[in-house]
Amino acid sequence: MPATILIGAYAVLVVLPVALGWLLVGPARPWPDELSSALAMAGFAALLLEFLLSGRFRVVTGGIGIDRTMRWHQFFARVLTVALLVHPALYSYNAYQFTGPGLWQSLAPGDPARAAVLGLDAGSTLTGWLAWMFLLALTGMAIFRDQMPYSYEAWRLMHGLTAAAVAVMGLHHALDAGRYSAMPVLAAYWAALVGLALFTLLTVYLLRPLRLTRRPWRIAAVVPAAERTWEVALEPDGHDGLAYKAGQFAWVRLDRSAFSMREHPFSIASAPGSGRRLSFLIKEAGDFTRTIGSLPAGARAFVDGPYGHLTLAGRREPGLCLIGGGVGVAPLLSVLRGARGQGDARPALLLYGNRHEGQILAREELAAMPGVETVHVLQEPPPGWPGATGLVTAAFVQERCAGAAAAGWLFMLCGPPAMMREVRRGLRAVGVPGARILEERFVYD
Ligand SMILES: Cc1cc2nc3c(=O)[nH]c(=O)nc-3n(C[C@H](O)[C@H](O)[C@H](O)COP(=O)(O)OP(=O)(O)OC[C@H]3O[C@@H](n4cnc5c(N)ncnc54)[C@H](O)[C@@H]3O)c2cc1C
Repeated sequence: MPATILIGAYAVLVVLPVALGWLLVGPARPWPDELSSALAMAGFAALLLEFLLSGRFRVVTGGIGIDRTMRWHQFFARVLTVALLVHPALYSYNAYQFTGPGLWQSLAPGDPARAAVLGLDAGSTLTGWLAWMFLLALTGMAIFRDQMPYSYEAWRLMHGLTAAAVAVMGLHHALDAGRYSAMPVLAAYWAALVGLALFTLLTVYLLRPLRLTRRPWRIAAVVPAAERTWEVALEPDGHDGLAYKAGQFAWVRLDRSAFSMREHPFSIASAPGSGRRLSFLIKEAGDFTRTIGSLPAGARAFVDGPYGHLTLAGRREPGLCLIGGGVGVAPLLSVLRGARGQGDARPALLLYGNRHEGQILAREELAAMPGVETVHVLQEPPPGWPGATGLVTAAFVQERCAGAAAAGWLFMLCGPPAMMREVRRGLRAVGVPGARILEERFVYD
């Protein structure tokens, strides 16, 4: 789906309950009450749409890329959290009568337009407070995920369950307490959105894994590729493999069930033309990737993919400038392998940064690729190192990429976040427009 349609659809779905409420219910209340209801309804709609944004649905990520989808997910989550958290504080409570713990009743109970109704009873007060606190915890735990004492998988499970709890409690609160949400049209709207949100969880945790069980893979080989980095090759088991484009990635479960929470995104380092086998270059980064070297050949694997937009599909630029850091070279290698395999003779420049020589991946292969100039950049070069030294900084990029920028080449980036920031700064300085930059991020924060 093109980005403009996606943004439009998102905006409509968020604003629709507010518009319906104002159109269908009678006279407005004081503006703080109206603002509060608007924030609550738009925030709740946005919250429910977050499930879709994070569910890796191609209809959502296809046009804008999964990177950008995840950035939207995080950005909207912060905005909707603020909207939902402040909304209870905005009501003009002096217009209502407090009749007991959690019980706020209208001072004008016979009011047919419910203009002065704050319909909180004990149940909706409880679900409102619980949703409020769970939402605070949900967003806080997402923002401070790296500081949490949990594995990524445990965090992800908690994230999903807490989000589902907020959705269900929010639904009860809205239907029971909402001036607008009590209307059948809006009640149906909320039920549909909550249903959709819960369906995405069902898809992610049950239906999609179920589909993957019908297309299993086997670990064909695990071999060292560089310091603390392994090449893992997978063979399709009883099917014709994966249709992917060079530069894409997949979520992979290695030596586990298709239903395991332990799935990890890895770029496919092989290229489509090289056969049905998939190869991944995996660097030891945490509890799971540190065990890669001991994975048994022949074990089951499951591959959910392909995803990602770091591909040459439809790109006609006269040359390719690839800038990678560490294992971030994996998708770039796939792009180069794919391009050369398809007889794409465009000149290519690869700027490839590492800390030291032992980390360089596919060194001989890169050196032998026709039409590819590889510039190795080492932070800690050995004595007599002939290549570039230091970090891949904005200044370095400016110096090395000015020619490619002027010639209208395509830029493809993948590396550590700090390096990517420097590279983007350097490319901006030499006038490369955003439309000519494609990137993959290995971290979604
Ligand atoms: C699109 C993409 C492509 C990637 N390609 C490669 C690659 O080709 N080679 C490579 O070595 N690494 C790649 N990574 C990074 C790799 O996914 C992580 O290093 C790996 O998942 C770490 O898992 P761990 O359990 O060992 O470490 P942990 O300590 O559990 O995780 C370290 C960090 O990795 C990220 N991570 C872990 N699990 C997941 C998950 N299921 N989904 C999303 N992020 C997760 C989180 O940011 C986490 O903080 C890629 C990441 C992304 C997003």
